[in-house]
Amino acid sequence: MTRWCLAARALALSALAASGGLSLGAERVDLGAIDPNFDYHSYANVDQFRVTHLDLELRVDFEFQSITGRAALELKRLDPRATQLVLDTRDLMILDVTQKATDVLGATAKNQTIWVSRPFHLEKPDPILGTALVIELPPSKRGTEAIRIDYETLPASAALQWLTPKQTARHKAFLYTNSEPIGARSWIPLQDTPQVRATYKAKVHTGVDVRAVMSAENDPKAKRTGDYTFVMPEAVPSYLIALAVGDLEFQETGPRTGVYAEKSMIKEAAREFADTESMIQANEKMFGPYRWSRYDVLVMPPSFPEGGMENPRLSFITPTVVVGDKSLVSVIAHELAHSWAGNLVGNATWRDLWLNEGFTDYMESRIMTAVYGQQRSSMEAVLGLKSLRSGLAKLKPDDQILAIDLRDRDPDAVFSEIPYEKGRLFLDYLDAKFGRERFDAFLRGYFDHFAFKSITTEQFLAYLQENLLDRFPGIVTRGQVNAWVFGPGLPADAVLPVTTMFEPVDEARTAWLAGKLAPKKLGMDWIAQQWLYFLDNMPATLPPSQMADLDKAYGFTKSPNAEIAHSWFKLVIANDYQPSFPRLEEYLKTVGRRKLIAPLYEALMKTPSGAVVAKRVFAKARPGYHPETVKAIEAIVVPKEETGE
Ligand SMILES: [Zn+2]
Repeated sequence: MTRWCLAARALALSALAASGGLSLGAERVDLGAIDPNFDYHSYANVDQFRVTHLDLELRVDFEFQSITGRAALELKRLDPRATQLVLDTRDLMILDVTQKATDVLGATAKNQTIWVSRPFHLEKPDPILGTALVIELPPSKRGTEAIRIDYETLPASAALQWLTPKQTARHKAFLYTNSEPIGARSWIPLQDTPQVRATYKAKVHTGVDVRAVMSAENDPKAKRTGDYTFVMPEAVPSYLIALAVGDLEFQETGPRTGVYAEKSMIKEAAREFADTESMIQANEKMFGPYRWSRYDVLVMPPSFPEGGMENPRLSFITPTVVVGDKSLVSVIAHELAHSWAGNLVGNATWRDLWLNEGFTDYMESRIMTAVYGQQRSSMEAVLGLKSLRSGLAKLKPDDQILAIDLRDRDPDAVFSEIPYEKGRLFLDYLDAKFGRERFDAFLRGYFDHFAFKSITTEQFLAYLQENLLDRFPGIVTRGQVNAWVFGPGLPADAVLPVTTMFEPVDEARTAWLAGKLAPKKLGMDWIAQQWLYFLDNMPATLPPSQMADLDKAYGFTKSPNAEIAHSWFKLVIANDYQPSFPRLEEYLKTVGRRKLIAPLYEALMKTPSGAVVAKRVFAKARPGYHPETVKAIEAIVVPKEETGE
């Protein structure tokens, strides 16, 4: 992840919260105590106004790489004296702001929809937060108001990726949004904070050769007219508003599940994700009903920077998990689990992300156990623990705590292994201590109690205290809980995952390294997770002959499994194994998933000859990467002096 040069803003933001006005540019002196109820990554004055519904009209222009939009915001006014509405924007041209006349003129304009212009201005942009849009409004005693904003996005927008026809399988242009954590403000002016949840409707206009889909009710049978309408009847935070436009086909995989993808991928993807309905049922049995009606999956172009994004009703999924053997479908289990953790009960600020990702990782593992068995999920859990340990080794103690302090920082900094793997181990711990039956009942109650709400770490802890710790006293103390949530590292009494499935892998590797086992006899019945473990635990150096033997026996260089290829290429780079370099370069040019390419660039940069390769490949691959991936790889490949930071 990229780190920007951080400007000091925390004090200014606190002042903003207190006064409802803006005072950017104050110098940081002392951050003081965190206010858990304040979102340090939004300018929105949510204590005075709350958006409850959005009506969007979006015109997608591939030629100019721009969305022309009209966003009508329905607002609940909390403060009758407030005279400014502050919204989040980033790289947006604001053309006009109007207010629904009934709100201005009261009863006189009843039954007429007149929109009256309102004065507005944009504040000075901040490199992380973007630009506050300040709209002047008269004080009002009315409980609700409606504001309409006409705007255009700029091609530089980091939350939008515009792919040219050459960059997609079907040679048609493709657009997708990536709003988490604070990208929504760069394609919609709104209160871009997870504290606020709103329903939305949208009309999207495109060319007739493409189809638009959103994180909303999609109609798979909709004709390609270039005009598409969407309704999202459940209130969602802004980071879950998503749009994709491309040459998309649809194939059903179950009564309430299906796959959208470009034609060349649709059949393979539908086969790969055939178990989605079983996954939903497994989760419903454990944690209560699925409340979003349909669950569809959109297979993204290869440049998609994440494994998946849990956009409600329509998860966006990397094509790198379409392997042919369902070996990487834990990504689907993960995004599906977000339909409960995150999308249904979510984090109020980015400090609370662990409530979203830790719960999801825990539930992902439960789904994988239910559908594919304990052996596979235990292997995945042990691999997760391994990545947590390497994450812990790199993070300073303050960044090892679940309720991380993100003030004055890019919220991207929260996306380490901590909220995911440590969060999940905390839930594993509670599960083990209280027992499965009690803990499942607790989680079911939790999802019911906070359904369609965004909560803070402190709200969760109060609920936990009342409904688990106090209900079954003498099992876990508040001190033990606090060690998990506010302490660095892993508590000594953590319950760590174990598996016996890697023992034969260790034995086979040792025997092969000692020349006592032919490469072909290594793992006749191993599954992908065992191969990953096999490759990831090799000694630092291997002679070229052994690299060649392995590749000859298993064809790792050409592996259709992008994760196995990634582990293999790490060995290829560490051992400067030249025969695999041409394919490595191709891989870096076709895969855009950050997790699978950033470590390879990092490894290449460790030697002068590798650095030459990294720079050459990055120059060629760059136009096909997502803007966020470009930033991340740039930070690895281009020395600081060259970027001018
Ligand atoms: Zn997730």
